Amino acid sequence: MKLPRPLSHSSITLYGECPQKYKFRYVDEIPEKPRHFFSYGQSVHSALEFFYGVKTPVPPTLEALLNKYKENWVAKGYRGESEEAEYFDQGKALLKEFHGKHAKDFKLPLHVEYEFALEVEGVPVRGFIDRVDQLPDGRLVVVDYKTGKKLAMKRIDTDPQLTMYQMGCESLLGAEVAELIFYHLPSLREHRALRRSTPLVDELRRRIVDTAEAIMKEKFDPKPDEMICRWCDYKLLCPIFKSQYADVPTAPAKASGEPELAALVDQYGTALAKAEAAKAEAAQAGARLSSALTKKGYVRAFGACYEASLSTAVRWEFLDKKKVLEHIKKAGLYDTVLAPSAPLVHQLLDNPTTDAALRASLSALGERVVAPELKIKPL
Ligand code: SF4
Repeated sequence: MKLPRPLSHSSITLYGECPQKYKFRYVDEIPEKPRHFFSYGQSVHSALEFFYGVKTPVPPTLEALLNKYKENWVAKGYRGESEEAEYFDQGKALLKEFHGKHAKDFKLPLHVEYEFALEVEGVPVRGFIDRVDQLPDGRLVVVDYKTGKKLAMKRIDTDPQLTMYQMGCESLLGAEVAELIFYHLPSLREHRALRRSTPLVDELRRRIVDTAEAIMKEKFDPKPDEMICRWCDYKLLCPIFKSQYADVPTAPAKASGEPELAALVDQYGTALAKAEAAKAEAAQAGARLSSALTKKGYVRAFGACYEASLSTAVRWEFLDKKKVLEHIKKAGLYDTVLAPSAPLVHQLLDNPTTDAALRASLSALGERVVAPELKIKPL
């Protein structure tokens, strides 16, 4: 068979982890479930692409950066609204810190989200590099952003991802790579390595060719591994686990003669799916209505069955929740606010009996947001 698509760092890694999983993903084209950590990483990456993607050496303002972040937020894969909100706030805090540090030393990069495509002994290879900087002597610096909490330091000197990026830059940009950087965003720390040696580049070239040959020979044996299989979306289809799931067929209730149970399962699943779709539709309609009322300067409007009213709501957003908790504890009010959720801290700020110094320190930690609030009731 032909290669289903050019190889990339992630597809080579996937093949190395489990060839069967590679087959499900790239040959059979069965998508994996969305994961919140990918969505979060993608959202932060697009904000940074915007930050460094400007045409003149003046960085975007913090406000513009955060607006872009909000606009391009990827909401897939979260286990609920509170998890999504937590990640959104975490990304916002990270971008604020990033802007504080790098608006000062801002320089236009050579490339942002640089896409490269090359051939290694006839094997097509493709990738995207977060950022490529150019030193005054013309040499290049490759930067890859990492949003995960931990970064294994051992990786920096040998990681094939950076080796592949070096190959991509040097083949296509006609300049030598001087340095390779994993930029760990949660700590704002750059972990630097010098350019890869020839043996490391040759090792990756061999790996690319070997992987391509194995795929073209259709070598897709499963490679079970406890940690990898645990999170694998293809377990139900996998030959290794098929027998385990043989007793749990896709329609167990029907198969075991329990049509009532099967009907309830389907009823519940369909209802949840409809509720999700209705929620998304309501959010869109609400946003359109809010903006139409604001444009016309109305605070109330009537439909045939409902009345809508628009008011202004004030809420507080806190990026550094740890600090908020410290201040509350210090003021001896830990029992009042057991967890620093924004509405509870808001109550504390609104309470006239709250100590003025605490109120001032909490206000300094948060942002007071005034936003339109839409209410609807039947006529
Ligand atoms: S369940 Fe394990 S062996 Fe099967 S495809 Fe997934 S990773 Fe491979």
